[in-house]
Amino acid sequence: MKPAPFTHHRPETVTEVLELLAELEDAELLAGNQSLGIVMANRLATPDHLVDLNGVDELVGIEETDDGFQIGAMTTHRTLERSERLAERLPMLPEAAEQIAGPSVRNQGTIGGSIGEADPAGNYPTALLALEGSLTLRSLEERRTVPVSDYFIAYMFTDLREEELVESVTVPTDPVPPERTGMAFLELKPAAQTWPTVSAATVVRVDDPAADEPVVEEARVALANASDVPLRVEDAESILEGEPLSEESLEEVATTVTDAVDPEGEMHADREYKEEVAGEYARRSLETSYERACN
Ligand SMILES: Cc1cc2nc3c(=O)[nH]c(=O)nc-3n(C[C@H](O)[C@H](O)[C@H](O)COP(=O)(O)OP(=O)(O)OC[C@H]3O[C@@H](n4cnc5c(N)ncnc54)[C@H](O)[C@@H]3O)c2cc1C
Repeated sequence: MKPAPFTHHRPETVTEVLELLAELEDAELLAGNQSLGIVMANRLATPDHLVDLNGVDELVGIEETDDGFQIGAMTTHRTLERSERLAERLPMLPEAAEQIAGPSVRNQGTIGGSIGEADPAGNYPTALLALEGSLTLRSLEERRTVPVSDYFIAYMFTDLREEELVESVTVPTDPVPPERTGMAFLELKPAAQTWPTVSAATVVRVDDPAADEPVVEEARVALANASDVPLRVEDAESILEGEPLSEESLEEVATTVTDAVDPEGEMHADREYKEEVAGEYARRSLETSYERACN
């Protein structure tokens, strides 16, 4: 099937984008077209207007600030995957990016498109939840900052208003000093080009990596495709904090995560299987994060 007819607009600045969003009825933003094209070809979306962001250079790029990173919405998965500075300071983001589909999707797909799409299986929404990131949302009238933890409200439904776009993503680095923090993004995939069954994004900060048994100062656990929104499991985090990582505490975490998630069953992974995978992948991801924090 082909998409229903639409008018294509190609603005060159964010202001022009926002003017179009304010003035047009039934307009949809177009980023890397790796998801929207499929939805439109199946006529599950039939917008009258497409506002194409590919000519808006100010939405592209990774900027390092004193206390974090600001990533423009039109930055591609490939750029995130290959960023050396992110690999040094926030390695979860390149690790999440490199596991998305194949090179053609990663060359075109963008972080803003992934957040705009808001699929609970998406890599960045869950990675950004674990990294305690925030989003800059912009309309003609207002620029507002929303924590990722408040943005995803229900299945593919977010705090984004019709006349807004996601302008950028901000991730703080102060709470995650690289010399004593480890992070990991671990996903179970049935095949390379498919979406994950479940993914686990974790962060572990220890007190002293040189100690015999480094104590976990802070742990963060977030899951993708395990609920109708990206899910953070704080009950699992508090089990680990204040002690060195142990088999017993990891076992308790796995049980807590399995109990906390609320996944939809799929053709190749029923609900019970996904619950178990969520617990097991949280455990494995935390083990890796702890090892990385200690080395
Ligand atoms: C075969 C395949 C496998 C995939 N596997 C994975 C995977 O494992 N993990 C994963 O995370 N993703 C996966 N994806 C999705 C991929 O990451 C997409 O690129 C991404 O989800 C959408 O990004 P895009 O730039 O292509 O956006 P588009 O398809 O252009 O747009 C998607 C939606 O976001 C909206 N949007 C775009 N930009 C903005 C913005 N700046 N502000 C607000 N709304 C905006 C659009 O209006 C549209 O509704 C896969 C895709 C394919 C085709």
